[in-house]
Amino acid sequence: NVSVVLFTADLRLHDHPPLRAASEADEVVPLFVRDRGVTDAGFAAPNRLAFLADCLHDLDAGLRDRGGRLIMRSGDVVDEVCKVAAETDAGEVHMAGDVSAYAHLREQRLRRALESQGRRLHVHDTVTTAVTPGEVTPASTDHFAVFTPYLRQWSRVPLRDAFAAPRTVRVPDGVGSEKLLSRSGLTGLSEGLASGGETEGRRRMSAWLRSGIAAYEDRHDDLAGDATSRLSPHLHFGTLSPVELVHRARRAGGPGAEAFVRQIAWRDFHRQVLAARPAASTSDYRTKHDRWRSGREAREDTEAWKEGRTGYPVVDAAMRQLRHEGWMHNRGRLLTASFLTKTLYVDWREGARHFLEFLVDGDIANNQMNWQWMAGTGTDSRPNRVLNPVTQGKRYDPDGAYVRRWVPELAEIEGPLVHEPWKLQGLDRAAVGDYPDPIIELPDGLARFKQARGLD
Ligand code: FAD
Repeated sequence: NVSVVLFTADLRLHDHPPLRAASEADEVVPLFVRDRGVTDAGFAAPNRLAFLADCLHDLDAGLRDRGGRLIMRSGDVVDEVCKVAAETDAGEVHMAGDVSAYAHLREQRLRRALESQGRRLHVHDTVTTAVTPGEVTPASTDHFAVFTPYLRQWSRVPLRDAFAAPRTVRVPDGVGSEKLLSRSGLTGLSEGLASGGETEGRRRMSAWLRSGIAAYEDRHDDLAGDATSRLSPHLHFGTLSPVELVHRARRAGGPGAEAFVRQIAWRDFHRQVLAARPAASTSDYRTKHDRWRSGREAREDTEAWKEGRTGYPVVDAAMRQLRHEGWMHNRGRLLTASFLTKTLYVDWREGARHFLEFLVDGDIANNQMNWQWMAGTGTDSRPNRVLNPVTQGKRYDPDGAYVRRWVPELAEIEGPLVHEPWKLQGLDRAAVGDYPDPIIELPDGLARFKQARGLD
């Protein structure tokens, strides 16, 4: 008998419950469908496609080492899975559960279509999250809207053991596959884009556990120090298992590991919010705000923000890092999102869309829910906090090294004064060349914000 494993956001062989379950059959068809629905939704940004290509090649190589190979098809995911299942006369299809509205719909459609062919769909938990959305809930409702009580319960959930990768994978003969997606031919990639794939993800995870995690609590907010794990694209594409990562981090122990595991819980937290309220990917989750600026001036401000020429150095540095690497430090994400939604008072959806165009870890749950958190429409219990970009710069980039790295116009300015180039005089002033003046005075932004939110 034959089982199909449909890989989605779980592009790995280690700790993979669907593959493990499917391997009980005599033969397995490891399938990836390049889903037209994802492309049509505009979600196939070049940086993520390139990372995905790496992941698929690495997955294929891992399967070949075990006697198998990856089968790739393109089209409507439900049609393609049904075709492959029919071609191989597979009795079962195994896949990971996921949280977006699209993933829910995909699962429903697939279940119905397979059942009509007399086949069964098995959807596995704890593949893309450590704790399954809905597994812990408050007494009165279906999901947690506040992180701290969520974390308390999340931490108490006993995690299943992590599974080893299978030793062999037997794929039936003669199953047709398209050529795997390739990086070559893709345009518009960020220059400093990371490489994908499970092998690379596991290498990074080991290096992080060995020499990064211990200092995480002290250094995670240091913009120039770049002392976070950078495992986010691997978690997004599932080249790493969150269950295995939490086990291994806990084994590493200490305050760094504890702080790191808390971030993995944040990831699960946003997923359980989105799973319960799929509409939150596009509409305000808790507090509705509809007085966002629009019109020509707002558009110009948004362009300046996207291009990293707002005149606020730490904002511009972070926005340029995003373009250059397809990744941005979490502190940068927080302060640039605050700047767009609160100082410029532009709709969070504009910012979220721009991030998704570039982020290699661009993820509906994490991106949209973090944007909502920062915009004050989501789960932040202090929805009207505004991050001051100068104070943030001085606090999290005290010597200015992060700004000098990403904003070459300011590379000659030494020390923290780099955060306030408008205060420079004489030769220093001349050295900044065409670096722009601030596009807005912070007190004006704050006054507009308070007025729009009725806080006066
Ligand atoms: P680490 O600090 O090493 O953290 C480890 C892991 O924990 C991360 O890889 C990530 O999976 C998870 N994590 C960390 N911080 C958060 C958080 N605030 N919320 C949820 N999970 C978290 N993360 C994404 O993965 N995809 C996104 O599209 C995304 N968009 C964001 C947009 C905004 C406006 C903000 C404020 C944050 C966003 N984040 C997003 C969360 C966070 O910034 C990134 O996960 C983190 O910077 C990735 O770097 P790292 O892997 O080195 O993180």
